[in-house]
Amino acid sequence: MLKDLGVHKKGGVITERNPEYCTIRTRIPAGMITPEQLRGIADIAERYGTDAVQMTVRQTIELPHMPPEQLDAITRDLSTNGTPLGAERDEVKNVIACTGNQRCIFGNIDAVALALEIDKRVFGREMPVKIRIAVSGCPNACTSPMLNEIGVMGKIEPIRVPGMCTGCGTCVEYCKEDAIAIKKGISVLDSSKCIDCGVCIRSCPYDLLKSSGPYYLITVGGNRGRHPKVGRELVAVRSSRAASDVVEKVVSWVYRKAWSGRLLADQLDDLQFEQFAAELRSQIPDEDLFRTGVIAEDISADTAI
Ligand code: SF4
Ligand code: SF4
Ligand code: SF4
Repeated sequence: MLKDLGVHKKGGVITERNPEYCTIRTRIPAGMITPEQLRGIADIAERYGTDAVQMTVRQTIELPHMPPEQLDAITRDLSTNGTPLGAERDEVKNVIACTGNQRCIFGNIDAVALALEIDKRVFGREMPVKIRIAVSGCPNACTSPMLNEIGVMGKIEPIRVPGMCTGCGTCVEYCKEDAIAIKKGISVLDSSKCIDCGVCIRSCPYDLLKSSGPYYLITVGGNRGRHPKVGRELVAVRSSRAASDVVEKVVSWVYRKAWSGRLLADQLDDLQFEQFAAELRSQIPDEDLFRTGVIAEDISADTAI
């Protein structure tokens, strides 16, 4: 039988430079926290003797200088507050998200809702390697999804449809990638430069730039740290549900196949990533796969931008 090592060995407990103290990291998916929970964290911090907390890169809150002998009580209080013990070791760590389309004018997807769903499915799983997951609402990539072990980015592909283009150049002005030009009085898209941010679609006063709606690009094997690496593209899917399904499958694949002691980014080839990607793509139903160049027959109110 496995010995229960208790809360002291959990990933959210970090021994400090002065080993008489530890820092406690919380689980706050997407960095979303209610005013009551914030007040609760303030109360817990004061109760156990620290005069400040720290916001982390992974959108959690850490409580520094916690007394190790009171860990059970502290983690119980944090759990009651709805901000339980987080993850730090070889686990799935706090899932992060940008504001997404609920607040940001550039957002193509609801990044927060997707991060919360992913958190429910995979947070805290013990893994052979650290798994960091980040969701961004658009290619501006404010949470750097491509520098995480698993990244999700919301995109929209613009498709130029025939119509009364006046050559007004509004779409050209809006495109930061220089992917649209006016030729012979009408706009022409250069798909090799386009990054599917979707900004031009909103700009055309005559609605000549359409799309098939948002899609979710999933990348694997990114890494920040000492030797940053950009994640590899795995697949693009058309719904939030399909995106969280894919993320869970990647987590299971890493759990089954990866070796400990090496970053995921450094073992993708040994893990035969390309073969995994091809198999995974073949298992995704047609209606969930994003295909370039397709215009939705019925562009919903959600996606008509
Ligand atoms: S990644 Fe895009 S949607 Fe998200 S906050 Fe940045 S600009 Fe907005
Ligand atoms: S989607 Fe973005 S990058 Fe592509 S053409 Fe439109 S504005 Fe430019
Ligand atoms: S904004 Fe619309 S009408 Fe103006 S150049 Fe672009 S596609 Fe043509």
